[in-house]
Amino acid sequence: LQVALRIRPMSAAELAKGARPIAHRVDEQVVVLQDPMEDPNDVLRASCSREKSYVFNVAFDSTATQETVYHATTRGLITGVISGYNATIFAYGPTGEGCGAGEGTSSVDMGGPSPKRAPSSPLGCGKTYTMLGTDNEPGICTRALGDLFQAIKDTSGDTEYEVSMSYLEIYNEMIRDLLNPSLGCLQLREDASGTVQVAGITEVSAINAEEVSQQAPVWHWGRSGESLLPSTAYLPQVMQLLAQGNRQRTQEPTAANCTSSRSHAVLQVTVCQRCQGRGLRRGRLFMIDLAGSERAAQTQNRGQRMKEGAHINRSLLALGNCIKALSNQASTKYINYRDSKLTRLLKDSLGGNSRTVMIAHISPASTAFEESRNTLTYAHRAKSIRTTV
Ligand code: ADP
Ligand code: MG
Repeated sequence: LQVALRIRPMSAAELAKGARPIAHRVDEQVVVLQDPMEDPNDVLRASCSREKSYVFNVAFDSTATQETVYHATTRGLITGVISGYNATIFAYGPTGEGCGAGEGTSSVDMGGPSPKRAPSSPLGCGKTYTMLGTDNEPGICTRALGDLFQAIKDTSGDTEYEVSMSYLEIYNEMIRDLLNPSLGCLQLREDASGTVQVAGITEVSAINAEEVSQQAPVWHWGRSGESLLPSTAYLPQVMQLLAQGNRQRTQEPTAANCTSSRSHAVLQVTVCQRCQGRGLRRGRLFMIDLAGSERAAQTQNRGQRMKEGAHINRSLLALGNCIKALSNQASTKYINYRDSKLTRLLKDSLGGNSRTVMIAHISPASTAFEESRNTLTYAHRAKSIRTTV
C-alpha cells in the first residue's frame, strides 16, 4: 500500500474565519501539523513539541498540480492494468461540513431562538477534486483513462482489448448506479470464477472507432460488443459522463444547509485482453472517492444522519481492517471482506497481485485541526503497516 497525503489550499471561507495554516509539507515525504491551541509563550510547556510530523510515501502541498499528483500516485499502475493486474486508488479524508466543525456548534437545541450563524460553505478537503477535478484541471480518473487508452493504442499486434466502465455509489450499504440511478438498489453477485460483480449495472464501452459515424453516439450502453478500440478522442465524453454521474451522488443536508458526500463513489474500469494463444486476461482499475471520514459522533445529527455515519464508518473500518490484514503477510489470517459492501466489491483488488494507493486529504487551516490530525494519524498508520512487513 502506497499512501500519499495532499494538503489543499486555504479556502475563502477559512480565511474569512481568520484561520491560519497549520499543516505544512516539509519535504517530499513529511508533513507537520501544529496544534493551534498551544500557546507559543507558554514557558511550562515549551519543552513539549508543538508540532507533530507524519511520514508518507509522497506528500503534496497546495501548490501541487493535478498532473503532479497523478504522476506520483497513479500513472505507474496503468501498464499493470492493461497486462491483467488489478489496481485501486482511494481518496480518503473528511468531507468537512463547513458549519459542523469549530466553535458554536453545540448540538444541544435549547428550544430558544437559534443564534445567527455566518453562512459557510462546505469545506471538503479535496477528494473529489483529486479524483474528478474540473474541466480545466482534470483529475485522476480522466488522466488514468487517457493513459489507459493511449497505452492500449501503443500496444501493437495480436492483442485485442476491450474496455468497459461502470460508476456506482455505496450509500448506507446500498449500491446505486450513478450512470442510471433509476435502476434502484443493486446487489452484489459472485460469478462462476469467483469475481464479485454488481448485478445489472450499466457498463459503458468504447465502440470501434471505424464504426463511429459523425452522428452516432461515441458511447453505447449495455454489454460491450466485439472489437473495441478505445481512444483518447472519447475523453471529453467520458469526463462529461463522470461529472454527470457525480452529480447523482447522494448529497444530503447535514448541518445548517450544508451538503456533504456521505457516499463512496466507485469508478470501475475493466480491461479485457484477448491474446492469440494466451486466452483472456482481465485487469480491473478501481478509482474510489470515499465518503467523508469525519466521525459520526462529531456531526450534529441524530437519527438518519447518525445511521449513515455508522454505515460510512463500517465501510471505512472494514476497509482499514482488510488493508491491515493483507499487509500483514506473515500470517495467512482470514480476511473478512464480507463486513461491508465496499470490501466485498474490492475483494479481488485489494489482495494478491494488485496494487493499492491511498491519497489522504487535509485542509491546512487551524479550524480543521481535529480532522486533520485524525486523517494524518489514520493515513500514517496505514503506511506504517506496510513498512513493517
Ligand atoms: P471533498 O470531495 O473532499 O469533500 P472537494 O474535492 O469537493 O472536497 O473540495 C472542496 C473544495 O475545495 C472544492 O471547491 C474544490 O474545488 C476545492 N479544492 C480542493 N482541493 C483543491 C486543490 N488542490 N486546488 C484547488 N482547489 C481545491
Ligand atoms: Mg466530494
